[in-house]
Parts: sequence; structure tokens; C-alpha cells
Amino acid sequence: MPGARAYLDWNASAPLLPEARAAMLAALDEAGNPSSIHAEGRAARAIVEAARAEVAALAGGEAENVVFTSGATEAINAVLRRGLGGCCGRDLAVGERVIVGATEHAAVFAAAAAAEIAPVGPDGLIDRAALAARLVEGPPALVMIQLANNETGIRQDIPALAGIVHAAGGALVVDAVQGPGRIAGPLAAALDGADAVILSAHKFGGPKGVGALIFADRRTRLASALIAGGGQERGQRGGTENIPGIAGMGAAARAVHAAGKVPERLIHLRDTFENHLNHIAADALIAGQGGPRLANTSLFAIPGLSAEKALIAFDLAGVALSSGSACSSGKVRASHVLRAMGAAEWVIEGALRVSIGPATREEDLERCLAVLARQLRGRGNRPRSAA
Ligand code: PLP
Repeated sequence: MPGARAYLDWNASAPLLPEARAAMLAALDEAGNPSSIHAEGRAARAIVEAARAEVAALAGGEAENVVFTSGATEAINAVLRRGLGGCCGRDLAVGERVIVGATEHAAVFAAAAAAEIAPVGPDGLIDRAALAARLVEGPPALVMIQLANNETGIRQDIPALAGIVHAAGGALVVDAVQGPGRIAGPLAAALDGADAVILSAHKFGGPKGVGALIFADRRTRLASALIAGGGQERGQRGGTENIPGIAGMGAAARAVHAAGKVPERLIHLRDTFENHLNHIAADALIAGQGGPRLANTSLFAIPGLSAEKALIAFDLAGVALSSGSACSSGKVRASHVLRAMGAAEWVIEGALRVSIGPATREEDLERCLAVLARQLRGRGNRPRSAA
């Protein structure tokens, strides 16, 4: 991480943990292919299997049910394009009918353009009554809902949603990408009831370009592999495994799992930031404040402040933050997440996201607030009713 800059964009990608870097460097020197039976092959295989156990432990699953992928986007595509077979302890194949949450990651909508949408309320939480009503309208559905939103940090109650989906005979796949290290309490408990879970290493201190699809039991599998190949990953994902990437993911999973519940410090930093923010701009609106959300995320909007212009000023002043995940290929697009929540246009246009992690320093957030205060100079502080 560049020392002089304040990196406040952990939801986009977290810095690599030293443990992950060390594991990757060691794995780079493995000559063997994990599918080979000689000693070199077995050494590479041992790295993959050790990492598989670490990732399973983090998500509360069994190692044999972990499939490594090139990231969450691939796992999302595999599930939505191929469907699940043998699901939920029954010989159920789901995937014909797909329902996805209205605030899912863009990859979900791109992979399942014809999916039905489960709406959220203004609080960003899935409307449970609407989901239940939709589920009974047709055959058992494959439902994909995220544990927590990457833009707002708003967190869904997965056990409750799983109950609703299962009552209608469906299966629930959870995009838990933003969860590790960012929620209070064990990740496994937060994912209770999910039929499959998706993780991405680079959101919790592992490398970019590696992720995992974790099934709840040994019968649940992809109906067919998205990437067909030489039978790797128990036939679920072809291609020689990304040994350094997988090693890095395993080491990061172990570190996050060992750290246990979210350090109070993260919550303290976020809350202090939000208090100061309200001091600078009393009319600032903070998404999900007071509701269930990640410990590390503040999405806020201030009337009169354009996210697009503000982002450039922040960057020039050495502060890296984001306007939500709506920025792709350098172009800022209006957030579908805030739109789905029925947010006002000024909120959609002005929303800025600060997302932090264990290495964030108090001075990083102070610098962010100072740059923000400079941008608001001349505007005057206004009470919230003016918004
Ligand atoms: N799902 C969520 C909630 C995300 O935040 C992201 C990354 O931004 C993804 C999926 C995609 O993850 P990956 O970068 O591993 O493809």
C-alpha cells in the first residue's frame, strides 16, 4: 500500500496480507502439476488441499465441498449459467428459474439477464414478503442474494432468507464476497442455511483473480461445469489450478478466520468518521446507518457534492475512495443499488464510499475529512432538513 496515500477503498480490493504474500512466493517455486502423481505433483497438491481446508473453515464448510475458481465473477457465472444439481440433500436440479436480489453485484445481472428480481426496501434489505410471494408463483427457484452489499455495506439476514427459500423448495446461493473480516461474529453463522457460498480472495487480503464456490453438502454441485477441462476440482472446474493464487487465498482465509470477530477498532474508526462527517455536513446522508451493515463501510452523500468531481479531488489529494462499485473502465455510472432502494437523485449522483480495513490509520480518515471539508468550503453547513 502506498504509505503516503490514504487507501480507503477496501471493498474494491484489500491490500495483500504478508501471510498471503509469503505463501504465494513459496508456491511460485513448486514445479509440479497437482494432478501428477510424482513427488513434485504431490507437493503442489498439498498446497491446494491445505488452502481448501482453510477456505472451508472460514466459511464453515467441508474441504471436499470447496471449488476454486478465478474469482467471484466466475463462481457467479458458473452457478447462474449452469444451475445446481443434487441440491439441498434432495435430488433437486435448480437453475431453470432464477431469482436474484435487486442490489446484487453487476456480475449477477450480467450472468442472468432473464432473472426475476427480489426487491429491497428503502433500508436496502430484501423484502421478505415479496420474495416469499414470488417464490410460490412457479417451480422451485435458484435464488442468489448477497451477504452484504459492496456499495452500502448493508447486510442481509441469510438464515431468515434461507428459511423462506427452502420453504418454497428452492436453493439459496450467497455471494459472501464482502463478508470476511467485516462482520461481527463468525462468518459461518452469518451464512447458515445457504446451499452454496461464493468468496473472492482479494477482498480479504488474498490475491486478485482467485475465489471459491463452497457447497453446503457433498450432494450439491454445479449441474455441469462452466469451464470444462481435465476433471480438476472434482470435475467442477477444469484447468490446472492457480497454485500461487490458491495458496495466497488459503493463507488469507486462515489469517481472517484466526482474527475472529471484527476488531472493535474497525467499528470505532467508522463511527468516528461518520460523527465527524456529520459535524462537517449535518445534512449528509449515510446509507444503512443504524441498520445491519458491514463494520468497514460508509456510503454517504452530501447535497450539492457531485461524486464524479469529488473523486478526482480526493485522488489528487492522496485519498483513494470510490463512488460505490458503479465505476467501471474509468466511467462512473449511476448506482443500481441506490436506485433499487428508491434513493433520491442527488444521493445517487453524490454517493461516495469510504471502506476501510485493519491497516487503516486514524490519520487516513482525518485526511479524507480534511479534503472533504475543503471541497465543501463556501457551501456552509446545513441542517439535514435542507436536503
Ligand atoms: N460480488 C461482490 C459483492 C463484489 O463486491 C465483487 C467485487 O467487486 C464481486 C462479486 C466480483 O468479485 P471478483 O473480483 O472476484 O470477480
